[in-house]
Amino acid sequence: MEDKNISHGLWAATATGKPELASLQGEHKTEVAIIGGGYTGLSAALHLSLAGTSSILLEANDVGFGGAGRNVGLVNAGLWLMPEDVIKLVGTAHGPTLIDVLGASPDLVYGIIEKYKIPCEPWRHGTLHCADSMTGYKALQQREKQWQERGADVRLLEKDEAAQKIGSKAYFGALLDKRAGTVQPLAYAYGLAGAALSEGATLYNQSPVISLVKEWGFWRLKTHQGSVLAKSVILAVQGYPEAAFADQINTLVPFNYFQFATKPLPPAILETVLPGKNGAWDTNLILSSYRLDAMGRLIIGSVGNVENVAWSLNKAWAKRSIQKVFPQIGKVDFEHGWYGRIAMTPNHIPRFHVLGDNLAMVSGYNGRGIGPGTVFGKLLATYMMGGSPDTIPLPVSEIKPVFMRSLQGLFYEAGSRMYHLVQRRI
Ligand SMILES: Cc1cc2nc3c(=O)[nH]c(=O)nc-3n(C[C@H](O)[C@H](O)[C@H](O)COP(=O)(O)OP(=O)(O)OC[C@H]3O[C@@H](n4cnc5c(N)ncnc54)[C@H](O)[C@@H]3O)c2cc1C
Repeated sequence: MEDKNISHGLWAATATGKPELASLQGEHKTEVAIIGGGYTGLSAALHLSLAGTSSILLEANDVGFGGAGRNVGLVNAGLWLMPEDVIKLVGTAHGPTLIDVLGASPDLVYGIIEKYKIPCEPWRHGTLHCADSMTGYKALQQREKQWQERGADVRLLEKDEAAQKIGSKAYFGALLDKRAGTVQPLAYAYGLAGAALSEGATLYNQSPVISLVKEWGFWRLKTHQGSVLAKSVILAVQGYPEAAFADQINTLVPFNYFQFATKPLPPAILETVLPGKNGAWDTNLILSSYRLDAMGRLIIGSVGNVENVAWSLNKAWAKRSIQKVFPQIGKVDFEHGWYGRIAMTPNHIPRFHVLGDNLAMVSGYNGRGIGPGTVFGKLLATYMMGGSPDTIPLPVSEIKPVFMRSLQGLFYEAGSRMYHLVQRRI
């Protein structure tokens, strides 16, 4: 039977380790208040506790409600942009450190998973960026060159080797990135919460921050039934801002991404579909992603949502795509379909905002937040414990609304629907 949970789909159905958390009641005091229980906020709470600094995290819903509980689960190394483009856009003061820190972010993620024994299906077998055209292949050659110059463990696979690793002859080659891997993303968020709790952090669910004001040199955060007085505040609401921060949605380009998960594949077929359990995505402008979960379900994703008519349109595309790319699967039956909102910035670089004394945020991970969220949470913790703004390898920028954001959102949604209506029909 098809699961009707279109927000968290497969991940909600299979994640274990969900922490039991109360909502905030009454008045509290702490060193650092954290708003938002995704990877950024949870990693900040964990690293503050490890350094002996008290923190209280307030989550509007349940931890993992935002992008953390809906994503593909690719633990990528670095941003979408190639290293040289990152340096052009960020500058030489921060660019090289940003590339190094995010390139190494899977080490931090898998290190935490190992240390706290987080049951989140962690596979670190590398990811495959698959060329769906010769132009895509040439772009991957550039990526390989730029990353290898920086000592990264990446290698471009020719068509035949790529076909073996992907389990499909549909691609022209693929860039294997051995630094990266996959996780069950919601289970990783639950595990980060468990790790933070075990180190002494205080976390609350169902506690949306409805106001944030300065009071005698401290920050006062109010929820419906309680309040927190804190020296510093980390704002970690990313693509799911609510209540006091609802307007921040205007600073992000609206961009949805959906996924469908098959029933577990039979063992003989599973040996031929991503046999090395690599996560994969392609070079198409409207990209497709593929990965397996621990039960052997194949999860396919692409740009768009699955609300109303988009459900059947995108489901039909997902079925056709699997049949085209992995014909050995034969009949395709889906168990789950869901989507989420990716926090995109116009130039694909995350933003660092200092919003007042001891109040800061990093956002806009552009669909690459598992590594960056974990890293920036840790760095924001260091910054709030007295580090300089240079702790964060990004220039400080002002919050600016995105020009014609609704139109841009419509453009992505309508464009991807048109594309999914016609693609892979012949
Ligand atoms: C469909 C999809 C696919 C993606 N695929 C990948 C991928 O494969 N690999 C990857 O690395 N990244 C991926 N990402 C990106 C990644 O999920 C995000 O970058 C990451 O979740 C950001 O973490 P975060 O903690 O900053 O924010 P979030 O996980 O979005 O958490 C923000 C939290 O803030 C809470 N909040 C909001 N307002 C308030 C308030 N007023 N008070 C209290 N709490 C509040 C929300 O409820 C939410 O839980 C994807 C994202 C989506 C949506």
